[in-house]
Amino acid sequence: MASTLAYLLLGSNLGDRAARLAQARHDLAATAGCLVAASDLYQTAAWGLEDQPAFLNQVLAIETELDAPSLLAACLAAEQQQGRERQVRWAARTLDVDILLFGNAVIHTTTLTVPHPALPARRFALTPLAEVAPQVVHPQLHRTIAQLLAACPDMLAVARVAS
Ligand code: ADP
Ligand code: MG
Repeated sequence: MASTLAYLLLGSNLGDRAARLAQARHDLAATAGCLVAASDLYQTAAWGLEDQPAFLNQVLAIETELDAPSLLAACLAAEQQQGRERQVRWAARTLDVDILLFGNAVIHTTTLTVPHPALPARRFALTPLAEVAPQVVHPQLHRTIAQLLAACPDMLAVARVAS
């Protein structure tokens, strides 16, 4: 089967966040495919519910032979591995793994929307994605990631963290 270059966003705001991201990279390299790039780590104030710890985010580029539903299953399994529990929407989480892009695919099912619908509106996703894929073109908006970042209205500061 042909492989696809997918971009994943990792996020954590509970416990040793950097260690959780490292564990997620390790798990996904074993279950999802070949890790071909990883952005720096970026810290952002929590989005949605603001009285909770700041997030650490990272984007991974993964060359995968999985189809999109199977890649989503691998992402959710990586979350489960770190004890993720879904309670309140936007609540603090040990690990969140979202599919930002899956090659040029446009997918709308009950369990999966790709490109990730919030991508153009979230600086904490665009900033690390622009580090590893500035010239990649969004398959619905037909603009590069660098262009989407330049036009992003999100005012939450995204700070690079020494890794
Ligand atoms: P969020 O990431 O929006 O905070 P969750 O991590 O709790 O929310 O995800 C809830 C569900 O969102 C997942 O179980 C999955 O079925 C669905 N989903 C839809 N599109 C995507 C995507 N592109 N990446 C990850 N999950 C997605
Ligand atoms: Mg998620």
